[in-house]
Amino acid sequence: LLAKDRQYVWHPFTQMKDYEQRDHVLIQRAEGIFLYDAWGRKYYDTVSSWWCNVHGHGHPRIKEAIHKQLHAFDHIMFSGLTHAPGITLAERLVQLAPEGLHKVFYSDNGSTAVEVALKMSFQYWQQVGNTTKTKFIYLEGSYHGDTLGAVSVGGVEQYHALFKPLLFHGYKMPAPDLRAAGGHTLADEAIVAEQALAPVRELLQLEAEQIAGIIVEPMLMGAGGMIMTPAHYLTELRKLCSAHQIHLIADEVATGFGRTGTMFACEHAGISPDILCLSKGLTAGVMPLAATLCSDTIYAAFYDDYMTQKTFFHGHSFTGNPVACAVALASLEVFEEEAVLERIQLTIRALETALHGSGLAALPYVANIRQLGLVAAFDLYEDAQRKMPFPPEKRIGAAIYEAGFEEGLILRPLGDTIYYWLPHCATPEDVSDIVSRTLRVLNKVLG
Ligand code: PMP
Repeated sequence: LLAKDRQYVWHPFTQMKDYEQRDHVLIQRAEGIFLYDAWGRKYYDTVSSWWCNVHGHGHPRIKEAIHKQLHAFDHIMFSGLTHAPGITLAERLVQLAPEGLHKVFYSDNGSTAVEVALKMSFQYWQQVGNTTKTKFIYLEGSYHGDTLGAVSVGGVEQYHALFKPLLFHGYKMPAPDLRAAGGHTLADEAIVAEQALAPVRELLQLEAEQIAGIIVEPMLMGAGGMIMTPAHYLTELRKLCSAHQIHLIADEVATGFGRTGTMFACEHAGISPDILCLSKGLTAGVMPLAATLCSDTIYAAFYDDYMTQKTFFHGHSFTGNPVACAVALASLEVFEEEAVLERIQLTIRALETALHGSGLAALPYVANIRQLGLVAAFDLYEDAQRKMPFPPEKRIGAAIYEAGFEEGLILRPLGDTIYYWLPHCATPEDVSDIVSRTLRVLNKVLG
């Protein structure tokens, strides 16, 4: 199989020299936080299978939901036809989401949830006669997916620069990176937030008439390097967006469903966006599904008027897939039945203890240990005190990735940033074991 894998399969983010030295790991079984390869070796899934898996692999409630729905009916078109899992899930999402988001538009993955949000916002302003509002603000270091709209609002040059000729123009603003804070008080955080807000305020004074929306990953910018951001930034942004008639689009594709310790990351700031993008953990990471939620005001501007094109011309073949919706509903039931958000608080504290009490912080090449809920990260430097990076040719992150397998860890460093994105089934014991194993990996690679 592995020979055929090399021969026939084009995996995402591959043909990257470092990551392709080895064969892919052939997975045969998955249970809870563990993946097992074809040789029976066991690995901690420390990144929740690309931040998707929520309750651990193979949860019985999820499996049962799939079987039950498949027994009733499989995929059907979601236009003109509807079904109970899609309806009930929409109702549950509206109940759970930050207030004011009353309509649910389904699509298939995080990128499409973002495409829907951008097109929805753009078309809304066209429809209400604000036709100059055509541009989006996005943040340096942001990641919203790999389709062209999502790439247009992506802030990581490495991923996006090549495609510039195909992209629409927007305004890239600095991110309020908490690593720049002098301390850990709210005042320190507010300084970082205000520094990042200053150019946004300036732009809006001059150009608000040109701007449809601003898209952010609330509290935690994932793929751009696990950048944690202050709640103050979001509360102020909410005020700015309301004052200047701009949509606040929260991309919670990655942070949604408990990752940051609350159901949605927006809750840390007590704000509601105008549009909310969800995917990944929506189905507990088991089936592809996404949802873009919006306010009644936005929905009301669209009419089912084919001739005048006032309807929302957007729909994917697999939209609202019933099996995926049934799984998402089962996942939300697990949240309730197992009181997941309460239960994980213990694990979150165990993670904090492991990160700060394990000797990790004392290592001369470790800096910026940071955590939000069950997500944690730290950066590796040649000299952590002076923040002197490793020369890129040393490819430290890649070496850590490689050595992780030997220690039974699936780690996926972002450059020289090591992170965990743990499933909610992780126990305090798992967390401490994962950090101990990581220390052994670091020791092996960096001495
Ligand atoms: N938004 C965010 C914040 C993400 O982290 C990701 C994926 N990492 C996406 C959008 C895109 O999701 P998908 O890969 O499912 O298209």
